[in-house]
Amino acid sequence: MENSDNQYLLLTPGPLSTSRSVREAMLKDWCTWDDDYNKGIVEVIRKQLVELATKYPGYTSVLMQGSGTASVEATLGSVIPSDGKLLVINNGAYGERIGTIAQYLNIEHHVVELGEVIQPDIEALATILEQDKTITHIAMVHCETTTGMLNPIEAVTRLAKAHNKVMILDAMSSFGGIPLDIGALDIDFMISSANKCIQGVPGFGFVLAKQAELEKCQGRARSLSLDLYDQWHCMEKNHGKWRFTSPTHTVRAFHQAMIELHEEGGVEARYQRYRSNQKILVEGMEKLGFKCLLDKSLHSPIITSFYSPTHPEYDFKIFYTQLKAKGFVIYPGKVSNADCFRIGNIGDVHNDDMHSLIDAIETSMYWDNGYAQENSVSQPVVARQEQGA
Ligand SMILES: *Cc1c(COP(=O)(O)O)cnc(C)c1O
Repeated sequence: MENSDNQYLLLTPGPLSTSRSVREAMLKDWCTWDDDYNKGIVEVIRKQLVELATKYPGYTSVLMQGSGTASVEATLGSVIPSDGKLLVINNGAYGERIGTIAQYLNIEHHVVELGEVIQPDIEALATILEQDKTITHIAMVHCETTTGMLNPIEAVTRLAKAHNKVMILDAMSSFGGIPLDIGALDIDFMISSANKCIQGVPGFGFVLAKQAELEKCQGRARSLSLDLYDQWHCMEKNHGKWRFTSPTHTVRAFHQAMIELHEEGGVEARYQRYRSNQKILVEGMEKLGFKCLLDKSLHSPIITSFYSPTHPEYDFKIFYTQLKAKGFVIYPGKVSNADCFRIGNIGDVHNDDMHSLIDAIETSMYWDNGYAQENSVSQPVVARQEQGA
């Protein structure tokens, strides 16, 4: 763990553990109107994001204040015209959220409900598109962070394009961590945020857009502050100027994070590190007797869901508190019909950290007989009292 000044490592899907140098980039106050910032930082980031997203021409990028959800909402609200209709593929909490946003914004939509452990069936989607010609846009999540499932974006995008639909991808938890060329896939809008695989700190999201599609969106937005077209237009016209107060410290940290992504060897190298992190995690957990929620063929190198132990003594909060005291923060489950917890492996987290995590988990399995013999039974009781306090 490089983060010796951090109290614990965040094994969550964002915000996640960042490098000290990324955090240090925030130790100064920056002005927003100066060329150093707009031309020197914002425009550089915008260009780097496009280069990271595709080798194909015709793409541009917009940065948007807020959490990742704000960028999803900005995209849906600014891109889909009032007579448009959105098809939402939902196999987890983030797919579900896209449907909720459409509902809030009064966007006509059809949600394909798949539950949380099933991938979309391409033929069934094709039937929907054939039967409902009013659908204009399709939205889906790349890595469904609810479970860690990786969705089949190639097949869905190919179908969308065969039917002439605009494709919107929430690649929040995968962009920068999994190789992906949005131009090769012909994706129209792709959304991600600062505090996921780029390993920056929270505060803004960003959208990679096919410029010709974005240019059609003037005057469509259902919100002033989340007007994606207007934000882009302002940045284009004024060399990186944000319409309203920009998260300057976060943007500086992101700029540093992009340098560090490059130094690591780019997306491919980061993907390999995440993959080996996830492999160490799953192998170690299985050795300790834990079971994965998903079939391995559906896993992503981002986050993994494990079934909670069924032992009556097991309590997530106690387990969580013990691991936190040992320097690791894990994540509760989010699946509705299975008792799970999740462990992420993205961020400034390395193979050594994953081995240390497995050791820490082994000594935190207080419900296990082996643990009870070796450790004082008072430990979990203390943890229980702390939780109640
Ligand atoms: C993190 C995440 C989001 C956005 O979450 P925020 O809390 O708004 O930053 C959206 N979609 C996916 C798939 C995510 O992992």
